[in-house]
This record gives sequence, structure tokens and C-alpha cells, in this order.
Amino acid sequence: MNTQPFERLESEVRSYCRSFPTVFTHSEGSHLTDEDGKRYLDFFAGAGVLNYGHNHPDFKKALIAYLEDGGIVHSLDMYSAAKRRFLETFDEVILQPRGMEYRVQFPGPTGTNAVESAFKLARKVTGRKNIVAFTNAFHGMTLGALAASTNAGKRAGAGVPLDNVHVVPFDGYPGAGDSLAYLEAVLDDKGSGVDKPAAIILETVQAEGGIRVAGFNWLKRLETIAHERNILLIVDDIQVGCGRTGPFFSFEPAGIRPDMITLSKSLSGFGLPFSLVLIQPEHDQWAPGEHNGTFRGHNPAFVTATAALEFWRDDSLEKATGKKAELVAERLEKIAAKHSDAIAEVRGRGLIQGLVFKENNMGNKVSAEAFQRGLIVETAGVGDEVLKLLPPLTTTEEEFETGLDIIAESVEAALAQHQREVA
Ligand SMILES: *Cc1c(COP(=O)(O)O)cnc(C)c1O
Repeated sequence: MNTQPFERLESEVRSYCRSFPTVFTHSEGSHLTDEDGKRYLDFFAGAGVLNYGHNHPDFKKALIAYLEDGGIVHSLDMYSAAKRRFLETFDEVILQPRGMEYRVQFPGPTGTNAVESAFKLARKVTGRKNIVAFTNAFHGMTLGALAASTNAGKRAGAGVPLDNVHVVPFDGYPGAGDSLAYLEAVLDDKGSGVDKPAAIILETVQAEGGIRVAGFNWLKRLETIAHERNILLIVDDIQVGCGRTGPFFSFEPAGIRPDMITLSKSLSGFGLPFSLVLIQPEHDQWAPGEHNGTFRGHNPAFVTATAALEFWRDDSLEKATGKKAELVAERLEKIAAKHSDAIAEVRGRGLIQGLVFKENNMGNKVSAEAFQRGLIVETAGVGDEVLKLLPPLTTTEEEFETGLDIIAESVEAALAQHQREVA
């Protein structure tokens, strides 16, 4: 297989290709195929972009029909029929049934664009600069979002000071005790040195940071702390929204009502770049054009995103996700119990689940073994100590059995290899 053009021409910054060193050509459902015709089961799903699987036939059909019909592709943020259809369907299928009243902002097409927009607006609305973020957070790579992301290696890439963010311990952070009691104390103590923030941003399940799950009570208390002090609460649902944990929004079971919500990754359903910020109407204080961008709301993404919303007209996907999540957690618990010397715990919610190893880099080693055996599965955590399962929600029970068998074998193989290395 010829990978020479990538190595010769593409920047050293490339990353996932180093974990999965083959050339992919086709994909369907929960499978990828490479140039040699080898098929891989995909438990990575584009880091949560492909919740409905690769190349979903309904979305593809809608997109092809739209293009064949000469539908408009690019329109800046002018009105288009595709955008109207998306907005109306999103309101009808997602917002109204949940009693949610939000304005929709289309920033640039990536997740980090949505986070930047939310920060700018929160700072404008409150007239404050500071943002509170949490340990092990990930919110994107542009400077504002990176300032609220905690991975030291990624932060080092900024090249300039990353400021105006104060990091506090997430739910369950080692040694932090009641992290919200601490947050409350520093917010109310004029001697704490923490400037009153414009907003608090969080992921309800920290994905890149190692699959760390916030408790529902913790989320509810956090909401109260924010609202009592007129601090805006931003939920970054870019990775764990769109059904990843079961419900469309990850925070639904906690019963909270964020001031702003960011969505991207699986929003277009098809892998087309698309993101949005949901804003409580009172906070929609943008002046026209104050935040701009060339690719704000891409019509092909409106078309596939509208098609994907058909999944949410009833609760069948949410229910199926819950059932599949139980199956996955059960199998992972068995693997963890068998290797309790090496595996600390199983963490996750819905179909984002992680096998947490006691040693750094064990996630990588298992991932490499799994790749050899035809399974794509990634790692999480600052030390790659977590094997992170992020399969398409549409993965069948049979595919889960196959993938989990491979994971069990790969854990055996990686641990045996590790034993030989340390001996
Ligand atoms: C992926 C991700 C982002 C950034 O999205 P990009 O499209 O890569 O800019 C932000 N927040 C969370 C929680 C993410 O998972």
C-alpha cells in the first residue's frame, strides 16, 4: 500500500493515521474498507461524528437528490430553503418536544468555532472576561477554546499565553473533595483571586479527557451555582450530544437548562462539517454581522442533518442505545474483572465507554492490537490510559459481540506483551 505521498507531502501534524496506518477507500454502517480490501469494524466513528454510521443510505439519498436538483450549496448566511427546512425540523423534533426555547446561531463549521462564538457572546452579555472550565476538559484547538482545554501538550502548541480561563476540579477529581463547594467558595470569596466569570463551560461526559462522567446531581448543583450568580452555563455537547449517551442532549436526564449549548460532530449525520450554538433568547445580544464567517451553515449539511432528525421523531434510538450500552458495559466489566491487576475501572454513559488502565499508554497498545485484528478503537486521557469505545449508535448487537471479542483478545495480547517487556 502506497503511503509515501502522505509521508512526503503531508505535514507532520497528522495524527490518527499514525494509529491506523492504512489507506481507507470505502465505508458503510459500522465498517471501513482499506485499499487492500481489508474490512475494519469501526468503534471510533470519526471521534463521534458518525453516530448514525458511515454513509447512511437515507441521508445519502437526500443529499444526492438535493444536488441533482441543483440545490444551492453555498449561500454564506443568506436565507435558503434548506436552512429553513432544517430550522423548522430542529424546532419541531428537538426543541419543542423538550420545551426548549433557543435561538440558533450557525458559526463556522467546526466545533471549535461554536465554542469561540459561545465565549464571545458570554463575554459580551456579561461584560466579564473570565471563563471557568474544568480539569481534563477539551473544547477545541483555536486560541479561545484551547485556553479552556487542559491537555498540556495541546496547550503548549498555542505559542502565546492562554489566559482568561480559570480551571476548577471536575466531578470526582482526585483529592478535590466536593469540587462544587470549592467552586462556590472561590466565586464568593473576594480574596480567592478568581475573577467573576462570564461563563462556566463543561462537557457532561468528558470525552477526550478520559471519559469522565459528571453526576446528575453535580450538574444540577452546578446549574444553581451559575444561575444564582448570573454566570452563563455553557454545555459543550459537541461529542456527547446527538444521542451518544442515549437522549439527544447529554444533559437531559439531569434536568438542567444551559444558557448556551454547542453542537457539532454528529449534527450533520453524514460527516459533513456543521456546528451550531443554541442560545437562550435573552442572551442573543449579537449585533448583525458582529460574529462572521464564510462557511456558516453549509447547505449540504442542512440537508443531511434534516434527514438525520428523522431518527428523533420517537424514542426508539434512545432506547436501543440504552440496551446496547448495557451489553457493552457488561462485557467491559468482565474484561476489567479478569484483569483487575491492570485495569482500574470501566467508565462511561450510553455508548461512550472506556476501559481505564492503571498504566499510561496501555490504551495505545490495546488499540494497536485491535487494529491488527480488524477493529478501529481509539484512546482517551492525557496519558492514553483509556481505551475509548465510541461505536456508531446503529451498530448491531452481532457487531458489538464481534468487536468486544476483539477487544478481549487485544487486551490479553497487549498485557502479555507488556509483561514480557517489563520482565
Ligand atoms: C471535538 C470537540 C471539540 C472541537 O471540535 P472541532 O470540530 O474539532 O473543532 C470541542 N468540544 C468537544 C467536547 C469536542 O469533542
